[in-house]
Amino acid sequence: MQMVAGKVAPLPKPPVIIIGGGIGGLSCALDLASSGVEVVLIEKEGQLGGKIRQLNCSSDPLAPALIDSGPTVFTMRWVFDALFQKAGTSLESELGITKLDVLARHAWSKDERLDLFANTDQSAEAIKEFSSVAEAGRFLQFTKQCRKLYQSLEKPYMLSEKPSFGGMINDLGISGSKVLYDIGLFNTLWKSLGDYFHDPRLHQLFGRYATYCGSSPYQAPATLMLIADVEAQGVWAVQGGMYSLVKAIQKLAQDKGVQIMTGQACEEILIEQGRASGVRLADGTSIRAQAVIFNGDLAALQSGLLNPSSKQSLNTKMTPPSTAKRSLSAVTWSINAKVDGFPLLRHNVFFNQNYQAEFDDIFQKKRLPKKPTVYVCAQDQGDTYEARTNSQRLLCLVNAPAKGDQSEFSEQEIAACESETFGLLQQCGLNIDLDSAICQRTTPSLFNQLFPATGGALYGQANHGWMETFGRASAQSPIPGLYLAGGSVHPGPGVPMAALSGRMAAATLMDHLGLIKLSGRTLISGGTSML
Ligand SMILES: Cc1cc2nc3c(=O)[nH]c(=O)nc-3n(C[C@H](O)[C@H](O)[C@H](O)COP(=O)(O)OP(=O)(O)OC[C@H]3O[C@@H](n4cnc5c(N)ncnc54)[C@H](O)[C@@H]3O)c2cc1C
Repeated sequence: MQMVAGKVAPLPKPPVIIIGGGIGGLSCALDLASSGVEVVLIEKEGQLGGKIRQLNCSSDPLAPALIDSGPTVFTMRWVFDALFQKAGTSLESELGITKLDVLARHAWSKDERLDLFANTDQSAEAIKEFSSVAEAGRFLQFTKQCRKLYQSLEKPYMLSEKPSFGGMINDLGISGSKVLYDIGLFNTLWKSLGDYFHDPRLHQLFGRYATYCGSSPYQAPATLMLIADVEAQGVWAVQGGMYSLVKAIQKLAQDKGVQIMTGQACEEILIEQGRASGVRLADGTSIRAQAVIFNGDLAALQSGLLNPSSKQSLNTKMTPPSTAKRSLSAVTWSINAKVDGFPLLRHNVFFNQNYQAEFDDIFQKKRLPKKPTVYVCAQDQGDTYEARTNSQRLLCLVNAPAKGDQSEFSEQEIAACESETFGLLQQCGLNIDLDSAICQRTTPSLFNQLFPATGGALYGQANHGWMETFGRASAQSPIPGLYLAGGSVHPGPGVPMAALSGRMAAATLMDHLGLIKLSGRTLISGGTSML
């Protein structure tokens, strides 16, 4: 023991350990380090980012073609403005980001294309041309309603520690509750969208927002309409791809002293006298901790993967995970190829003709959709199409059932899905030269390996039924000293939401350590004035 001027120096406090370097874990690490807390972050993969990952589709080792192969749509930048501000810098100082004028280009066939714009009036004009004057008018009503809904729910739901239905209604008051009543609170998203969109193509387009949190529009609650407002607030393109966000946060966190250990799986969360006291790594090393924050999927904890003896206490106090309620998985193709025939923008969606059948296939029949909707991110394109003779970097994605831990899809099943996927793109005019392409495919079973105990579900449990919205676990687990962060816990999935959950875990822990004093149910305030 070290002696200082005749006194016994206090033992250094063990660090806070974060398991998982997804955006939730990274945001939590940066917040804690910005407040002077010592942090060790442990990540089982060779690099940080979790679902934010890049794959190299180049045959030339000297000229990598890195393709964003996870999230590509960057929204709610205020979450990161606040995170970077707290770290003493700004998003713009650390990252090149550009607001896109076109949110996405949508296609149903060679002749049916619709762009949605950041400017609502421009979108209404496009809808008028594409569909009808009446549909454009209803779209404008819809956007107003979505705005009100978002404004009503940001504080009492999104930024609240553990929202309950009663607490939220109380916070909303009469006028806020009326907004919920007006959208049809107990309706499905699909049903409520039917009040606004009579053109089946627009109904489908806005229903797709349910998939942003891994759900079916036919089962998700109408409140998910607020995602339309999130996009309308802005979609940004990140220079160098979404992975630049990971690199920027990693650098800031390391500059503030966060110790990052990659390629190190945590095998066990140590629990002593009912309290999380440290971790044991795959190589046998144990590290003591004053608190542990878990950023993997909650299903891993609840299935006892990291401490079998804690399973019962977690599951009696939190809703146990259900394989039947898993959110969407995906099949993705990261492709470096020559492309022609369709004016790709940054974000493109190609729709099938029978939307309901796609979700029946996935959620009821648990099979790859016979006729998928296809999302294509053309990372080398921006707001306006630029013809390119050389190859382009693409991420193609179709929704899939999360059963990657039960059975691998057969080669025939994958081949059929692939042929439907690229067949639909071709019907809409997009030709990808697959023969000369360099392509990496990711299936639900690979996602399951990357994100243990999920079956490949990418968004935690599906948000099916209006009460599910209130069923997500909060940052404070039932085990003292163990905290939760990431897309499987409140406020939910998506890059900014998972980052918010990380910030909430940091705030809750700092409150418990006596470093800050939180008051009321709202943990973090909105806009750019967050903690
Ligand atoms: C294909 C795809 C497309 C998407 N598109 C979008 C989009 O356009 N926009 C958007 O906002 N969101 C999108 N999302 C969702 C978004 O990416 C996620 O919600 C978010 O990134 C999840 O972050 P997280 O904090 O939950 O951590 P995760 O990304 O889930 O990372 C968790 C980390 O924990 C690590 N880990 C787990 N267990 C252990 C252990 N025992 N020991 C050590 N480490 C461990 C894992 O290796 C992983 O790195 C998409 C996701 C995918 C996969």
